[in-house]
Amino acid sequence: MIVILKHQATQEQIADLKQYFMDQGLRMDETRGDHATVWCLLGDTSRIDADLIANLDAVDAVRRIQEPFMKASRSYHPEDTVVDCGGVQVGGGLFQMIAGPCSVETEEQIITIAKAVKAAGATLLRGGAFKPRTSPYTFQGLQADGLRLLKLAKRETGMPIVSEIMDAAHLDLFEDVDVIQVGARNMQNFELLKALSHTGKPILLKRGLANTIQEWLMSAEYLIAGGNDQVILCERGIRTFEAVTRNTLDLTSIPVLKEKTHLPVLVDPSHATGAARLVKPMAMAATASGADGLMIEVHNDPMNALCDGAQSVTPEQFADIVRRVNAIRDVVKG
Ligand code: PEP
Ligand code: MN
Repeated sequence: MIVILKHQATQEQIADLKQYFMDQGLRMDETRGDHATVWCLLGDTSRIDADLIANLDAVDAVRRIQEPFMKASRSYHPEDTVVDCGGVQVGGGLFQMIAGPCSVETEEQIITIAKAVKAAGATLLRGGAFKPRTSPYTFQGLQADGLRLLKLAKRETGMPIVSEIMDAAHLDLFEDVDVIQVGARNMQNFELLKALSHTGKPILLKRGLANTIQEWLMSAEYLIAGGNDQVILCERGIRTFEAVTRNTLDLTSIPVLKEKTHLPVLVDPSHATGAARLVKPMAMAATASGADGLMIEVHNDPMNALCDGAQSVTPEQFADIVRRVNAIRDVVKG
């Protein structure tokens, strides 16, 4: 961490601040210029509150050198992390497609969709059982029964399954779920993240509705710091002033995350756009941008879906997306 002192800082202020840093176990390298004095703090500065220091009368500016998300950062772990999701590897140059309905609705629905997306090239099956709905009057998911049906679809197709958790008290129900999803609304539910950090299960951590990349990586850090490094990030769009689409898909986050972290990065063009017709172009764009895979909502009867029908593609449309995405991958690889 670099601290630039104000020209007007008093000797007493400087001595007090020096003592404060020494009490924190830090060493300091001092450079006195004509206009400012610059301190380079050496040691573990992760517990130092940079905002607090920046607002002191004696301080002109503070700059962190070390990222606050140490264990999620690529400098700490230069190799790509590959997450084993029930036998399907995510990350490390591989490309995986998670597909399935927003919500598990019936046995017939989930089995039909599971078979269709598998045939089209999906490698993991998604299906919500606990749904974070804006309105309490809409379908809340089949909950424990939804997970039971999802596991049935896994047995039937052999595909590992992904489902969202909203409450750590439900963890026992997720024992046979291969990947536990933390939804956008819970990205900063720190108690949930701490509980999941003790599971050793692959976690699909979606980006919060209005969260920065740094906040997202700090949430990943909660999981890793607690002992679970099986973390996959999923960009799903953020809130902006634009109202034409459900969210604004921040594709820039993909190459930025690739620089900053070793964790795999997936993209969910369904929640990002909110419109089935926009899923294909954004799936292709995400692939070209370097994503490690996609998560796409697929429904056999979008008109009658209990949740997110507008953004759900049919199995046929999904098969077409897979073909286009594979064509893009060939171009990008070449
Ligand atoms: C979902 O994947 O079904 C979901 C609710 O997504 P998000 O948390 O990104 O809104
Ligand atoms: Mn959905």
